[in-house]
Amino acid sequence: MQVRFDPVIDADEERAALAYLARAEQQASDVAGLDGGVKTIPIGRVGVLGAGTMGAGITLSFLNAGFPVTLVDTTREALVRGVGQVGAALQGALNKGRIGAAEVDRQQAMLTVTLDDHALADCDLVIEAVYEDMALKQRVLGRLGEVCRPDAILATNTSTLDVDALAVASGRPTRFVGMHFFSPAHVMRLLEVVRGAQTAPAVLASVMQLAGRIGKVAVVSGVCYGFIGNRMAEVYMREAEFLLMEGVAPSRIDGAVERLGMAMGPCRMLDMAGIDVGAKTVIERGKAGGLPADPSYRAVVQKMFALGRHGQKSGSGYYRYQGRSAADDPATMNIAAALARQHGITPAPEIDDDEIARRLLLPLVNEGMRLLSEGIAARSGDIDVVWTAGYGFPRARGGPMYMARSVGLDRVRADLEHYAAVRGDAHGYWAPSFS
Ligand code: NAD
Repeated sequence: MQVRFDPVIDADEERAALAYLARAEQQASDVAGLDGGVKTIPIGRVGVLGAGTMGAGITLSFLNAGFPVTLVDTTREALVRGVGQVGAALQGALNKGRIGAAEVDRQQAMLTVTLDDHALADCDLVIEAVYEDMALKQRVLGRLGEVCRPDAILATNTSTLDVDALAVASGRPTRFVGMHFFSPAHVMRLLEVVRGAQTAPAVLASVMQLAGRIGKVAVVSGVCYGFIGNRMAEVYMREAEFLLMEGVAPSRIDGAVERLGMAMGPCRMLDMAGIDVGAKTVIERGKAGGLPADPSYRAVVQKMFALGRHGQKSGSGYYRYQGRSAADDPATMNIAAALARQHGITPAPEIDDDEIARRLLLPLVNEGMRLLSEGIAARSGDIDVVWTAGYGFPRARGGPMYMARSVGLDRVRADLEHYAAVRGDAHGYWAPSFS
């Protein structure tokens, strides 16, 4: 019998899952090589380079926690937009009665905005949040390495790029770390802390402690494409696209996991994050030689991008939008069907919800097991914290790894082998990563 994820969770199971997650969140701060003897580096003033969506959200996270912040960008327009985003969030908190007018004034007074990156010279920590472009990030980090105090910590908010290569570019690889915030950065609880090959224990310990001070739950990841969360999301998106090419509508794909409690299915998630952002990541990874030799791999997102369907912000992506309300779009099915014909993918639109859920969630678990065996993630619990705190995985199910252990890893493995046999496995998509 194949694995079936029951949409109904009984109260005892939920209680056990929540207790497990509470423990996992505590254990996440217990990091190999960091014992009580590691002295942390005091962090007072924080600098943020890049005042875009993430830079503004990161700025807010620190302002909310009482840190003075210096925010730098290259154009006045970008700074005005970033400051506008900060102001709107503070105004929203005021309107909802979460903070008073004096607190809004206090936080705004703690913010310095400037086009002059020399202003970052007195920061203890500077986080870059410029566009996701390796050459650009190497350049700005090289510059930060010159401008910032020699003892300052430099960090990158990259979602996918090689943190070790960026560490080298900064000229201070021991004082370098990845700080991967999630959008909106002042709201999402998760912070993936990416430990580079040369990150000093004191730097790692300081950033973990800092995460707690800004109300985040921090999980340490090793260096790999996408770290823990986005690397797992990649296989989930891959299967969502294959289902689409087999003729399954986005609402059915999303519905199959949303009925299990996922905050958002994969199609809705990518439409919100931006098809352009997702497609560029795939294209960049292809240029770096990191994609499987499969021409149908993530073909849908690349086609959507080429057609200007950038997701919710452009009015169409996987779905068609009126404001925030999403509807299935026949154009999406036509695009997917044409790609299916091009790549010889057989239609299977009648597939049921249980099968859709297995097709999406089993690769996710398999990739999680691979991250454990590679040492990118230290514990199953760390992966579960990443997915519940950063990706809307239902807490009541404890996270993907806890859920997989609950149904039985041998059954998960048997299902992976089943799919490898019936779907073929030329690219290793279904080969179990664990024995
Ligand atoms: P964005 O396009 O909203 O903002 C980028 C900002 O960087 C712009 O304001 C731009 O003017 C500024 N910039 C460009 N070159 C610069 C330079 N040389 N010096 C100073 N500023 C410069 O992008 P974003 O969505 O905020 O993403 C920023 C980073 O955060 C990327 O690495 C991205 O992968 C990562 N990230 C994004 C998300 C997300 O959901 N958007 C989530 C996690 C991480």
